[in-house]
Amino acid sequence: MSSQREPGDPGGGERLAIDVSGLELVYGDGTRAVDGIDMRVPRGEFFGFLGPNGAGKTTTIKVLATLLSPTAGTVRVNGFDVREQPRKVRGSIGYMPQETSVDEELTARENVRFACEAYGVPRDERADRVEELLDLVDLADVAGKRAEEFSGGMKKRLDAATALVHRPPLVFLDEPTTGLDPKARNRLWDYFRRINDRGTTIVLTTQYLEEADQLCDRLSVILDGRIVADGSPAELKRRVGGEVLEVEVEGGEAEHERAAEVARGFEEFADATVSVDAEGISVTAETARQHGTDLLVALRDEGLTVTGFDVRAPTLDDVFLAITGEAPDPDGPDDAEGVVA
Ligand code: ATP
Repeated sequence: MSSQREPGDPGGGERLAIDVSGLELVYGDGTRAVDGIDMRVPRGEFFGFLGPNGAGKTTTIKVLATLLSPTAGTVRVNGFDVREQPRKVRGSIGYMPQETSVDEELTARENVRFACEAYGVPRDERADRVEELLDLVDLADVAGKRAEEFSGGMKKRLDAATALVHRPPLVFLDEPTTGLDPKARNRLWDYFRRINDRGTTIVLTTQYLEEADQLCDRLSVILDGRIVADGSPAELKRRVGGEVLEVEVEGGEAEHERAAEVARGFEEFADATVSVDAEGISVTAETARQHGTDLLVALRDEGLTVTGFDVRAPTLDDVFLAITGEAPDPDGPDDAEGVVA
């Protein structure tokens, strides 16, 4: 892929886009947001960083982007040390923060042109660069419209375009699709795949585990400032072991708890993970498919009414549950944003 590298590539045979050892970040108020993480991302990879609210994803990205200084550990980005060579790091990355940086008063074209100026793109290259990027994110047709007329998805695509004006070999996308409808999300996904196909390394943080599953070559799961799992989406799913049997049970918590007891006592599901949810129970087991109907019969024999069931492959939500013991909460409260110099 090196032949397709964009200008701005640090070159020099640096194999790792990100090389982090023992990173710690303690905020001014004593909050230990990142507690000793190691992370290596080879160039060209589409890497995902997953975790619930407050796990430490944004803090880590901000250290990598030189917006926060690490308390301990070594952090190299594109071969540059974040403490010693922050300007070189900044020149070699694109950063799409959670909050939009689009200027609504300006047109799409003006926004990208402004970013070109801010990033020091040579004057004689700007016009071509602006058109190329607007085309890449499918905004060429509306290039002359003011951003205030744009939908959330269009603004996000414009954000992504402005993060790329200096053709960085590495881009950070911090929860880029939060709040978008599925269609808008899909368009952004296409665009992210396109820039990764061009050779750009991508680090994506997301709470949509489906998104990581669709896009990422490899994932790290972070919880309470530590990495608790690492692997390809397929590897992480294999860790769950087997398939997931979801059983809808009539009634409330008491009936669902009784159903869970039946499943736990069910010989064929001795190694299964059984959890109770709002609709009934879910059972994750190697033999979920073979013995699913036997369990339904056992539930009926207990006087419980099954109103529906389904056997499905595990999702990354199941991976999350298996690893962390808690389901991800995309709608949970956001923690205060802030930057400590
Ligand atoms: P989210 O998805 O909510 O953004 P996150 O995984 O990105 O979560 P961080 O924002 O990195 O998590 O937060 C990690 C921890 O650091 C949390 O406990 C958070 O409350 C805390 N934190 C974040 N910013 C600051 C700050 N400026 N000062 C003190 N503590 C902070």
